[in-house]
Amino acid sequence: MARLEIERIPVLQDNYVWLAREADSGLVAAVDPSVAEPVLAAAQRRGWRITHILNTHHHPDHTGGNLEIKRATGAVIVGPSHDRERIPGIDVEVSDGDTYEFGKERAEVFFVPGHTRGHIAFWFKGSDALFCGDTLFLMGCGRLFEGTPEQMWKSLSRLRQLPETTNVYCGHEYTQSNARFALTVDPANRELKERAAEIDRLRAEGKATVPGTMGDERKTNPFLRADNAAVAAAVGLAGAEAVKVFAEVRRRKDVFR
Ligand SMILES: [Zn+2]
Repeated sequence: MARLEIERIPVLQDNYVWLAREADSGLVAAVDPSVAEPVLAAAQRRGWRITHILNTHHHPDHTGGNLEIKRATGAVIVGPSHDRERIPGIDVEVSDGDTYEFGKERAEVFFVPGHTRGHIAFWFKGSDALFCGDTLFLMGCGRLFEGTPEQMWKSLSRLRQLPETTNVYCGHEYTQSNARFALTVDPANRELKERAAEIDRLRAEGKATVPGTMGDERKTNPFLRADNAAVAAAVGLAGAEAVKVFAEVRRRKDVFR
C-alpha cells in the first residue's frame, strides 16, 4: 500500500500544519490548519488540491484556517464529535474507535481528552503516522486546559502503545524547551541526554525536529514515563501511583522557565 506523502508547513510562532496526500486517490488532507493562506500556497506549490481538513481539537491555532480553506477548495472538514459546536465548518464527526477512509489509507480515531475535553488523534497505521495535535509533543505533552491529569495520563498511555516506528506529527515545535525540562525530572536518562544534545544541534542549524518516533518518545518523554521509578523518585514521589507522578511532572512543567 502506498504511504501518505506528508509535508510540514510552519506557521504562526511555532505551529505545524501538515499536508498529507494519498497518491492513488489524490486526496489531500490539511491537518489542523491554523491559517489558510500559507497552507493553500504550500498545496499549490506541489500541485495538490486540498480535499479534506482534519481537526484534532477546537483551539483557534488548529482551526483558524478551516472556513477559508473550505471556501477555496470545497474541502470536507473532519473533527471530533464531542466538540462539534466548536469546530468551524465541521462536516464529518468522528469519535473514539471510528475509522475514516482516506483513499487507500484509513485513519483510526482515538479520543484523547486532557488538553481539551474533545481532543482526538488520527492514526494512519499503514503510513506509521500519528497526528496528535496538542496531546503529545516530542518530549512533552499539552497543557491541561480542560481536562484532568487522570484523563491525560490515560490518553497518553494509549498513544504510547502504538508501534515504536510510529511517526509522531504534533502541532508545535516545542521540542527543545521540552528537552530542557525533561532533563530536570529524568536527569539520569542517558538516551534523553543524547537526544537533547541532538535536538540542540538541529535547532542551532534552524531545522525542524518534528516528526519523531514513538520509540524515542517512550524512552525520553517524561510524560510517558510517569510509571518509571527513576522519574517518580526525581519528583519526590517514589512508589506513588503513576497518575500522581504524572500530575506532579505536569505541574512542574507549567511553572518551568
Ligand atoms: Zn491546543
